Amino acid sequence: MPIQRLSPLLVSQIAAGEVVDRPASVVRECAENAIDAGASRIAVTIEGGGKDGILVVDDGEGIPPGDLAMAVAPHATSKITGVDDLDAVATMGFRGEALASIASVSRLVLTSKTAGCDEASTLVVEGGGPGTPRPVAAPPGTTVEVRTLFFNTPARRKFLKSDGAETARVTETLRRLAIAHPGITFTLRSVQRAGGTRTLLDLPSCADPAQRVLDILGPDLRGEMLLVEAEAHAMRLWGLAGRPGIARPTARHLRVHCNGRPISDRAITHAIREAYRGLIDPRRSPTVALFLSVDPRRVDVNVHPAKAEVRFRDADAVHRLIHRAVRACLHAADLVPTLATEGAPWHEAKPFGTGLAASSSGMPAVGLATAPSGITSTVSAPAPAMPVIRSDVPVLQVHDTFLVTPDEQGLLVIDQHALHERVLFERLLVRLGDGTLESQRLLVPATIEVDPGQVQALDEMGGLLGRLGIEANAMGPSSIAVHAFPSLLLARHVDPAAFLGDLLDKAAAGDLDEDPEAALHEVLDMMACKAAVKAGDRLSEREIADLLAMRERVERSERCPHGRPTTLRLTIEDMEKRFGRR
Ligand code: ADP
Ligand code: MG
Repeated sequence: MPIQRLSPLLVSQIAAGEVVDRPASVVRECAENAIDAGASRIAVTIEGGGKDGILVVDDGEGIPPGDLAMAVAPHATSKITGVDDLDAVATMGFRGEALASIASVSRLVLTSKTAGCDEASTLVVEGGGPGTPRPVAAPPGTTVEVRTLFFNTPARRKFLKSDGAETARVTETLRRLAIAHPGITFTLRSVQRAGGTRTLLDLPSCADPAQRVLDILGPDLRGEMLLVEAEAHAMRLWGLAGRPGIARPTARHLRVHCNGRPISDRAITHAIREAYRGLIDPRRSPTVALFLSVDPRRVDVNVHPAKAEVRFRDADAVHRLIHRAVRACLHAADLVPTLATEGAPWHEAKPFGTGLAASSSGMPAVGLATAPSGITSTVSAPAPAMPVIRSDVPVLQVHDTFLVTPDEQGLLVIDQHALHERVLFERLLVRLGDGTLESQRLLVPATIEVDPGQVQALDEMGGLLGRLGIEANAMGPSSIAVHAFPSLLLARHVDPAAFLGDLLDKAAAGDLDEDPEAALHEVLDMMACKAAVKAGDRLSEREIADLLAMRERVERSERCPHGRPTTLRLTIEDMEKRFGRR
């Protein structure tokens, strides 16, 4: 075949693939344009999951009649002019490709009216070429109507999913935008094949951004969300972080936005998960909605055609800010779950918002954080960091497993093993951090019989063991000698040989995390677990008092390092309800 130049239509159809792959992307582009146009209302109607028709109506600033044809031309935009503008994009769009791309793969009608014009004009684009704008009667704002998406690119149309599946994507796309733009009313309606329309989203504008987050994540989460607020390096972070008990099996409820744009960023997700480390089961995802405001010059949005990813100039500072802010908020909150009166286990009570003042920013003040240095938290309404147990009340040990004691809100039931495990874990972590994790040489080395896999694991783990004060070496192909072991574990009667055998077993089976820091935490956790008192151990009064005293001193003592609760609370309120006093 001779080399020939592709027709402009074919060029845009190929390019369209990057921007528009399904009805949801059309809806996203049009809604983003409406946001850029300063709309206060965006109404979307879809037909056949958007495959047959998409109508996006906004009340934004509109397009002057003379610009209509330009709006659908490829690489035409009113948002940037020079390359310098690319360094500081403050709008959702800037590539000037969306309308042209959509027009090249559908029948598009663009109707618009600006405040300065008496009349609206409408333009029909079909098969790539715009017709001539004609005057029509329409209210101020812009309407984009997209008929039969991919009618002229049948291969692409075939990839579309069922009406239901495409509808679900459109809904999710709008929810993702709406959560970050509470001042805009969003509606989504679906025209049913059987006739009639169904309202899928009805999100009235609201002054309180937390309200919009709850509208999207679920109003029942009101009592489960904590306020995150921080500022550093000219970045501002605001958001809500869910209590550990509402972590989910998928990451659907972990939402991050930068300058009003939903973004997916693995390092940020990691920073958030790290903040929850030890508070939730690592296989679950926390429920979090974070909104980051960054100077547009410090973030590059031109790295992804659908703008789903961005690149931060100072990514480390962003990750640090997010990690510290989420952690500080969790740290400051009372995370003790109440004994489930209704609902799921680990359900936590104390509704957010009730009786709590709104802060000056209009953001709700919820259980809050005295933030660590470097982060300024502007929130009021301090929450008790840790329920204080009254020192003059005897504590009851029940079945040599649980400790029961009153606190100022009711009754605490503590799992002695889980709490001791957390206390030891934190102590080991602190000592490791400040270099005071002492290790003791064994008078007689402890030897273990091992298999070749374990010997190899010992080789690979040398550095990690060294950090922990475990000194061991192979003595021939099937035995290992332990020469030194952490004093804290010896004092708790942990057998060095048995411990190392278990650890090497785990490592040889590939059960240790690949990330060295995560692996270190796993090993510390193993140590804490082995050294902790067990269920069934009778504790002396002194041991009980010590354990409860330590509980108030360590971080995250509400949960064991696996994320399970160490402590449950039966509140006075619950008791009163249960006994029919309320
Ligand atoms: P971009 O958003 O990247 O500029 P688009 O192809 O999405 O590119 O839109 C092209 C231009 O059309 C925009 O720059 C804007 O001037 C105008 N436009 C599109 N949609 C709207 C709208 N809903 N309201 C006002 N102007 C719009
Ligand atoms: Mg656009």
